[in-house]
Amino acid sequence: MLIVQKYGGTSVGDLERIRNVANRVAKTAKEGNDIVVVVSAMSGETNKLLGYAEYLSDHPKREEVDMLLSSGERVTAALLSIALNEMGLAAESMSGRRAGIVTDKVHTKARIEHIDPTPMQRAITEGKIVVVAGFQGVNEQGRVTTLGRGGSDLSAVAVAGALEADLCEIYTDVDGIYTTDPRIEPKARKLEKISYDEMLELASLGAKVLQNRSVELAKKLNVNLVTRSSFSDAEGTLITKEENIMEQPLVSGIALDKNQARVSMRGVADRPGIASDMFNRLAENNVNIDMIIQTVGHDGATNLGFTVPKTELGDAKTVVEGFISDKEVDEAEYDENICKVSIVGVGMKSHTGVAAKAFATMAQENINIMMISTSEIKVSMVIDEKYAELAVRALHNAYELDK
Ligand code: ADP
Ligand code: ASP
Ligand code: MG
Repeated sequence: MLIVQKYGGTSVGDLERIRNVANRVAKTAKEGNDIVVVVSAMSGETNKLLGYAEYLSDHPKREEVDMLLSSGERVTAALLSIALNEMGLAAESMSGRRAGIVTDKVHTKARIEHIDPTPMQRAITEGKIVVVAGFQGVNEQGRVTTLGRGGSDLSAVAVAGALEADLCEIYTDVDGIYTTDPRIEPKARKLEKISYDEMLELASLGAKVLQNRSVELAKKLNVNLVTRSSFSDAEGTLITKEENIMEQPLVSGIALDKNQARVSMRGVADRPGIASDMFNRLAENNVNIDMIIQTVGHDGATNLGFTVPKTELGDAKTVVEGFISDKEVDEAEYDENICKVSIVGVGMKSHTGVAAKAFATMAQENINIMMISTSEIKVSMVIDEKYAELAVRALHNAYELDK
């Protein structure tokens, strides 16, 4: 079999852990498998490097940020290869560039355009274990790019797809996908299987156990994806097609996203095209809008609110203040102390009353819901950040996810 194994930051957090990973890789190799390993930077390393850049500049050039951040993954790749060599195994580490990972030119959140697997295939044919530095690629201009936070998951899936690997294992510090973050709800239950679509929603709605784009790609390329722990031999969670899962629960999981901020505008000009102007301007400034709400107050004034990632609130504010100076908006408020809790489940498609239960649960806990958005398989609510954990636990209990 050809297996791609990805080890996250905690799993390679120090030298002993890197040796532990080398032992695991060696074991899989001795069972007769070809292996490509994709590694993250040692835990905390990416944030540390980012802090260095931010210490020196409020607006470091994205090209330079990529040059800086990509170094973290290269360190681990080389160290793991050295540890494997020391065990008598042939191994070769590769940067994203050497591994043939070509991306678009959007620095700090590049998309993989294609992979030329030849260098990896050649090394495999020579009997080597290939160790790829995750989270990075190279654009057509020849500059290093990174794939967005948590992007080593994406590297692993893309490499598995390009090599037509039989399996892609994501090793992390939990032994699978749980009904919710086990750090928030210790009663969370490990799922044996979860569908690509549900996992994609959970990841997009804040469950950082897998990067959302990696799940999207795994679905598209039909990659067999398993999440498991690098610290135990417990069986992990298989992320697979919906039809491979026999029994669909109403709700499969709960996600929490604390990286949200809210903009509320009062007295928005009552003219056709205002929303289009506003959201176009926001898009031009690379602000990603999530939820939108528009209401008309008792005084007849139009109020408009939306949520954005916290890191993009500054850019959103600049745009909104522009509309205020143009007298198109009366006033605006910015709130960083919010979060988004979501329930996800494909079973919702065919059942009524699932959302109503979520609202009733918030009411019982006296939690005010500021915004709501729904799709076929999810219900999201924006609430005060101070109730984040309480809301997750209450919902987990209400849908009996511990059973
Ligand atoms: P890595 O560094 O290995 O990429 P991450 O920190 O990115 O690991 O992701 C693992 C973490 O994701 C876990 O420690 C856990 O707290 C969190 N997490 C959030 N939601 C879930 C979930 N539904 N199931 C499992 N883990 C989750
Ligand atoms: N090191 C990068 C990050 O911290 C990528 C990854 O770990 O997946 O976001
Ligand atoms: Mg991660």
